[in-house]
Amino acid sequence: MLASAAIADDAPKAPTFDPHRLSEEVKTLSSDAFEGRGPATEGEAKTVAYVVEQMKAAGLQPGGAIENGKRTWTQPVPLGRFEISGTPSFALNANGKAQALTQGKEIAVRASMDGSRSVDIEGAPLVFVGYGVKAPERNWDDFKGVDLKGKIAVVLVNDPDFETGKGDFGGKAMTYYGRWTYKYEEAARQGALGVLVVHETAPASYGWNTVKNSNTNTMFDIVRDKPSEVHTRLEGWIQRDLAVSMFKRAGLDFDALKKQAQTRAFKPVALKGETLSAKFDVDAKVITSRNIVGLVEGSKRPDETVIYSAHWDHLGIGEPDAKGDRIYNGAVDNATGTAALIEMGRAFAHGPKPERSVVFLNVTAEEKGLLGSEYYATHPLYPAGKTVGVINMDALDPNGQARNFTTSGSAKLELLDQLVAVAKTYGLSYENDPHPEAGSFFRSDHFSFAKQGVPAFSYESGNDLVVGGKAAGEAAGKVYNKEHYHQPSDEWKASWTFAGLAHDLPMLYTLGAQLANSDRWPNWGKDSEFRAIRDKTADQRK
Ligand SMILES: [Zn+2]
Repeated sequence: MLASAAIADDAPKAPTFDPHRLSEEVKTLSSDAFEGRGPATEGEAKTVAYVVEQMKAAGLQPGGAIENGKRTWTQPVPLGRFEISGTPSFALNANGKAQALTQGKEIAVRASMDGSRSVDIEGAPLVFVGYGVKAPERNWDDFKGVDLKGKIAVVLVNDPDFETGKGDFGGKAMTYYGRWTYKYEEAARQGALGVLVVHETAPASYGWNTVKNSNTNTMFDIVRDKPSEVHTRLEGWIQRDLAVSMFKRAGLDFDALKKQAQTRAFKPVALKGETLSAKFDVDAKVITSRNIVGLVEGSKRPDETVIYSAHWDHLGIGEPDAKGDRIYNGAVDNATGTAALIEMGRAFAHGPKPERSVVFLNVTAEEKGLLGSEYYATHPLYPAGKTVGVINMDALDPNGQARNFTTSGSAKLELLDQLVAVAKTYGLSYENDPHPEAGSFFRSDHFSFAKQGVPAFSYESGNDLVVGGKAAGEAAGKVYNKEHYHQPSDEWKASWTFAGLAHDLPMLYTLGAQLANSDRWPNWGKDSEFRAIRDKTADQRK
């Protein structure tokens, strides 16, 4: 598909990346003084000031929003913050009898983000819509024109072919149609009053606790002109056991209907005699956070851009751990990516001037649902149609060198083919995401760009370490996930060598330099769900 040898000749030689500098930057960003880098906190002000200062010192120009005719260093990101006030009440009414449901126990409903301040749903009918997928390019429509106005859609998680392992949705690997975010969005497009996703551990890839914690928490969203276009009034999940009994009372067999839903012929089924009631108030506020943006302007085609991105935010100050530590420092997640972004900026600012512009985008609110990147991708500072591609970095390994690397989730795109070819010249082999059914592709910032059709991926450090091999790499990964991931102990360590990053960042530099010095436009694979969106702007790239 790509003549990688020919492309490699276009790129300038990669500079070296200083592991000490990476370490110092991670140390500062993850120090207690930065308070865990929560958006719209004192920690944000410190982080923005520090990153801007580092970007300046690295030789970058401001690449953010234009004020008084000049680019600034940041892009303001207005975010809506939503909380259910008090205890919400939910009830299932079956043939005249009401069954109260407890928030967090049988049901987990988010604070509404459709603009409602007070939700009072009285006896809304329930309709099972299978996997809730409308995919014209796959000739698949679970809705078949059903009227969902005033009704609650009950939907299964993952793709219609997840259980069978083969079909039109990538088999075991999850497409975007399988993500719960898609189920919520499609239900809104279908005009439903609400949507309840049936929780099953295998297709969700996590247990009920994760569903409960993430849905009953404070919610954030970008500020939208028409929020009801993407959010129904009621968005939530129910436990599988509850779903099975609901179906039974309506004279339906959950498992048999699920089988039907795995076929094109499936038609929505009303849960006769059953309705849902819900009553709660929503406390909504708007806060403003910031994306930080540095720039190296292109010498020949400055209106065409290559983006490197990483999120700066972490969880801020929260519940104390066993040692009483309340600061979620986020050293690995994602001070490492932010430091790598600053150093990548230094490499481009001091290297030969690229023909296309290179943008260094340090986004906010990733931990709140990829919101900084979502805001940028829907309010781009540089036209999306002329953005060549996005190389995202999140939670990089600060330890030793590996023989391989991977990306968050698997996707078919020429950008990845090109990366794999470059990596070979650095002695790095590409390893496919070992768990594509978990839908990691949809859980990192590159995905916000993919949704707008912009080719994008998230680089991830490898697990086959030069010292210790896969056994050591897997063991270190397990320790991180269990003891440090999203915990106050994700802290900087003097023992970190940053040798892996010093080795791999030149590879990511080379890929970006190839893109920035070519006139090619790598696209998504032919059967990718993002290709059609990209192709809509094809005339901008002639
Ligand atoms: Zn992260």
